[in-house]
Amino acid sequence: MLEKMDTDCDFSAAELEAGRLLFAGGSEFVMGAARLDQLPEPLRCEVAFAGRSNVGKSSLLNALSERKALARTSNTPGRTRELNYFKTGPDLHIVDMPGYGYARAGKKLVSAWQNLIKAYLKGRANLRRVFVLVDSRHGVKPNDLEIMELLDEAGVIYQIVLTKADKPSLEMLETVVEKTKQQILKRPAAHRKLHLTSSVKETGIRELRAEIAGLIAR
Ligand code: GDP
Repeated sequence: MLEKMDTDCDFSAAELEAGRLLFAGGSEFVMGAARLDQLPEPLRCEVAFAGRSNVGKSSLLNALSERKALARTSNTPGRTRELNYFKTGPDLHIVDMPGYGYARAGKKLVSAWQNLIKAYLKGRANLRRVFVLVDSRHGVKPNDLEIMELLDEAGVIYQIVLTKADKPSLEMLETVVEKTKQQILKRPAAHRKLHLTSSVKETGIRELRAEIAGLIAR
């Protein structure tokens, strides 16, 4: 049923196969960067994943790379405020961006981390796309809009990935999909197509891999 939802994301068999191959060799943690001068040389393409804490980002990264504990690294203390780099295939870095929306984080910490993200988004020429993860039960929240604004300003193309699609009823899901499509329609750097995923049911994972593989080929 979920697969039938109209998110405009259709991929050919060849594109799906390219996605499978890209992730078939697994992904490997490279490093965490808390400052711009710690970023690796921009020799590989990058795609980054952003989202509110608890949106299901680690689960999605693990599902993409078929590794149970890959992105656990990003959630270990000390790494949650860093840009965590994972090597996938010969040409790609996946960047796990710090989760946002920690009510408990102090102002100083929040601004240090916003500055890092802002500087990263503005200055990274090899960054091909940012996937903004949104919980499909809740839709776009105010702090999702904040990151979307940063991305619009920086001119970095971003694409919404609705997570935990196994949770809401099909009716609720359709409402959220339609509403989200409307919300991104006029945003300058937003990609029109949404991805709908469930890490638990492995829905939409093959399509997301195909999307990423297509970004490297360009
Ligand atoms: P992160 O903080 O964004 O990295 O989120 P996690 O990946 O740690 O997930 C947060 C919670 O949501 C955990 O309890 C996960 O088991 C749950 N979760 C993540 N993805 C899914 C999903 O696709 N479906 C369901 N039902 N639960 C999920």
